[in-house]
Amino acid sequence: MPALFPHPHLLGIEGLSAADILNILDEAEQWTAFNRGARKADDRLHGLTQINAFFENSTRTLFSFEIAGKRLGAQVSNFHPAASSVRKGESLIDTALTLNAMRPDILVIRHEANGAAGEVAGLMDCPVINAGDGQGEHPTQALLDALTIRRRFGRIEGLKIAICGDIEHSRVANSNLRSLPLLGAEVRIVAPLCLMPAVVPEGIAAFQDFDEGIAGVDAVMMLRIQKERMEEDFPDTLQDYHTEYGLTRARLARAAPDAIVMHPGPMNRGVEIDGDVADDPARSVILEQVELGVAVRMACLDLLTRERRT
Ligand code: ASP
Repeated sequence: MPALFPHPHLLGIEGLSAADILNILDEAEQWTAFNRGARKADDRLHGLTQINAFFENSTRTLFSFEIAGKRLGAQVSNFHPAASSVRKGESLIDTALTLNAMRPDILVIRHEANGAAGEVAGLMDCPVINAGDGQGEHPTQALLDALTIRRRFGRIEGLKIAICGDIEHSRVANSNLRSLPLLGAEVRIVAPLCLMPAVVPEGIAAFQDFDEGIAGVDAVMMLRIQKERMEEDFPDTLQDYHTEYGLTRARLARAAPDAIVMHPGPMNRGVEIDGDVADDPARSVILEQVELGVAVRMACLDLLTRERRT
């Protein structure tokens, strides 16, 4: 039987096939019910060491990977760069070699540099999962987004999805712009010119007018402005960002009547999204994304360690 995930690492959506993605989503389905049960203990990763090394801040992704690993029985250790020799000038390479010498069975890494996860993967003797590399990719976010959409609509193919906000600096956008078209969705991006990527991927429609961009869409994915990734200060012209690019209830009315609202978090309420839209249980799937993130990460940890467990 061919491997369900025939790749040594999960570094991005780039390089994955639609079948690879669908296999992960199908595997994740089993954990959604399991995660709602009272006793959430499986032992398939029993005896395996999982290291989470997050060089950038995280709430959802770090905690989700930690919970996912523990529910599968792994020994999970979190490496804290701020309290480590990184503060004494140790390089990423030396840090990775040091972690590798402790013989982990899987490494989950987030780093502010594009390509960091790929670079580290080349040094490790275990699978590596990219939990976000600079503006590069955030594959498990795109996978949990796809699972959320699929569970809500029963399909992804043929849906119209608008990704709105700071597209240029977003690794979440980069990963979703690869996965969603591969799964058959019609994807649009909506952003002011200064937050639009220099090159719009082929087949993606780009809109600067928010109202036009979300007209009739099935899902509106909102993104935070990534000020920490901007070389210059946030442009003054965007101080009134909310007026033109904030998702309000009135604006959401332009989308399809049953359109869902998504956000990878962290949200800046009153900037890119209004609180009443984010909190609307009929439309917002933001907390469902968080919930399904654990299931998706369980599937990824399981699939990537299968070979070394047999
Ligand atoms: N949490 C997501 C990320 O790490 C989105 C964001 O930070 O805006 O990329």
